[in-house]
Amino acid sequence: MARLAAAPATLTTLICLVACSSDPQTDRDAAPQSPSANVSPTPENSETGSPSPEAPARVPRPDVDAVRPATAMAAVQHLAGDVGPRPGTSPAFRRAAAWVERRLSALGWEVRRQTFHTPEGVSWGVPVPAGRSVNLVATRGDVRPGKPWLAVGAHLDTVPQAPGAEDNASGVGVLLAVAEAVADARTRLPLVLVAFGSEEPRGPGDDDHHFGSRAFVSELGAAERRTLRGMVSLDRVGVGAVLPVSSAGEPDALRAQLLAAASRADVPVDAQTDNRASDHWSFARAGLPGVRLGSTPYAGYHSAADVPGVVDRDQLERTARTVVAWLGGQ
Ligand SMILES: [Zn+2]
Repeated sequence: MARLAAAPATLTTLICLVACSSDPQTDRDAAPQSPSANVSPTPENSETGSPSPEAPARVPRPDVDAVRPATAMAAVQHLAGDVGPRPGTSPAFRRAAAWVERRLSALGWEVRRQTFHTPEGVSWGVPVPAGRSVNLVATRGDVRPGKPWLAVGAHLDTVPQAPGAEDNASGVGVLLAVAEAVADARTRLPLVLVAFGSEEPRGPGDDDHHFGSRAFVSELGAAERRTLRGMVSLDRVGVGAVLPVSSAGEPDALRAQLLAAASRADVPVDAQTDNRASDHWSFARAGLPGVRLGSTPYAGYHSAADVPGVVDRDQLERTARTVVAWLGGQ
């Protein structure tokens, strides 16, 4: 972990973040591998290179009907019902991260940890200490420097007083449901999934939150920034029957893509603008395309009442189907 954190913010750093084969239990002892040494469960994407000769002739496109809402709901139950409040620098957060890492690995994703510093502060009225937090960065070994890629992320941390079922075990649950639904499919571009640490505020300013996603963006090299075609933040996606789809500023092309994907998936939407309250803002403020799904208001927000019962399985399913439709094509 320290190895990654100490690495310079170069192209090589991101290649290792998103493309190096990684077994979190053993990679400390493993010999360095080149990205091309990775074994991918899917053939090379046509936009990233030639199909490998041993690849199956047909790998299906992502299918919205492959979404299993039970996968998302199980994550909500575990993270909010069993683990509970998990500020980004807390032992509970580390337990939650270990669980999500195991789930992603079990679904066939290569997971790398990106550690970063989070300062002390006051999180929703409660003092929290400085410390290390972690992003879990999952790929299938098909991301190539200089080639187009997509990202889907959800923050795993909570404010200190909330078990965080809706905010944001719902987003992490949908992340896992998407990871499962596309595990054996060929997304239209290589995909990076990220469970972000330390999203929640530790002060009032725009630099007092979103620490994990800002660390991720800061370590992207020029080629990665140029080729990122879209990042979707899943944040509070399990309340209501209509899915909020928000750009960070004015309506933009990425938001239009998500609205079209929701339409293909038969998901009703509320198209919004000017939402800067989630990890997509770390991308947008750096000039990269980012949108947010979710944000419907609810009574238990940032409180002890944010328990699994507030999360609606059908809304998790709507959100996951929208993401899978976006990953499948235009
Ligand atoms: Zn949130």
